[in-house]
Amino acid sequence: MNNNELFEKVKQVTPGGVHSPVRSFKGLDENPRFIKEAHGAIITDEEGKEYIDYCMSFGPLILGHSHPQVREKIIESVNRGWSFGACEKYSYDLAKFITDKLDFVDQIRFVNSGTEAVMTALRLCRGVTGKSKIIKFNGCYHGHVDSMLIKAGSGLAGTAEASSSGITPNCAADTLIIELNDIEELKKCFADQKDIAGVIIEPLPANNGLMPQELNYLKEVAKLSKENGALLIFDEVISGFRVSFGGMAEVTGITPDIVTYGKIIGGGMPVGAIGARKDIMEHLAPIGNVYQAGTLSANPVAMCAGLETLKIIAGEGFYECLEVQNKKNRDVFMKWFQEYNEGEFRDYNIITDSSLFWAVPSKDPIKQIGEIPTNLFERFNPLQKVLLAKGVYLSPNPYEVGFMSLAHDDKILGRLEEQLWN
Ligand SMILES: *Cc1c(COP(=O)(O)O)cnc(C)c1O
Repeated sequence: MNNNELFEKVKQVTPGGVHSPVRSFKGLDENPRFIKEAHGAIITDEEGKEYIDYCMSFGPLILGHSHPQVREKIIESVNRGWSFGACEKYSYDLAKFITDKLDFVDQIRFVNSGTEAVMTALRLCRGVTGKSKIIKFNGCYHGHVDSMLIKAGSGLAGTAEASSSGITPNCAADTLIIELNDIEELKKCFADQKDIAGVIIEPLPANNGLMPQELNYLKEVAKLSKENGALLIFDEVISGFRVSFGGMAEVTGITPDIVTYGKIIGGGMPVGAIGARKDIMEHLAPIGNVYQAGTLSANPVAMCAGLETLKIIAGEGFYECLEVQNKKNRDVFMKWFQEYNEGEFRDYNIITDSSLFWAVPSKDPIKQIGEIPTNLFERFNPLQKVLLAKGVYLSPNPYEVGFMSLAHDDKILGRLEEQLWN
């Protein structure tokens, strides 16, 4: 069956034919590719066509698809059984590896996704402070937790409306939304509103394009949170173990009160985590009164995949190497944008940070959602069509970033050049 036939079939049994909306290619002229297998930087669809993959499962696969060492650990682990619902040593090994390396994380609780980690972090934040409201920044994504699916409302600084149906006005009202890169608005929000339990931010916003913030701005956010008795949550589900082992907390030297992880921490298996100082973490059940649980949490197979991945990325020079490849990759695309079809894509820029990149038809700095060109889908459609035909797979949504991995080596970049100019 080809991709289009499969998509028609799947749509009958699954809403929109997908189990996560961004996979649907919604708003684009192309249909999804059905991936049959993936190795290194290459994914192969059901029709046998190969693509150089820059989506990388939306971030977890920092070592590339099917990394042999991770695969071996997964197989060993499966041979021992794949869920115990009881205490085991595998999650200790992973938690110990992380807490030994990160001085701002004394304790960790494992969950099954980034969304779950955020959900728990918000509850923990409220449980610790005894307050209700959470400040969120416009353009940061924190998973599909009800209170995080909101957009800026009209009127007062901080007011919010649900961005999804099915969310009660009361729930939306517990979140205050403000713009990134605007410290005055944050100050005003703290001055106007009481009862603020926490501030949640993607310290490297990477879910609405890539919008790196100034270090001073992030420091101010941390300072204001502290002064106002609100806990600072760094949502490092993308940036954790990606921009450096210790994520943005390590890069910026800012110590968040609570950090959430996901994606890379499970090495491609479903894992999320909440980390914090001991005095905060011990508010969680069974010691504290903040309830949190999970039938499949700390799944032993996922723990082993995560640990092996983290051991490899903790190696000397790992991040420097990825950053170098990201710059080379950018150079290839930028040159091609200039040359292809007499400069059809010459307005495109590639914004990079560490091993992340974002292709955007604008050369201006972008630090707020309002600075992103509004016609992204229209602009992305022709680009994506050409790239897919040439066997290059970007994340299928113009607001999603690209992910480099260890597998995007010089050989792959050479292949990229060949495919682009062919
Ligand atoms: C991906 C992501 C989430 C949600 O994680 P899931 O595993 O998809 O639930 C939350 N926050 C950030 C910053 C993310 O990038």
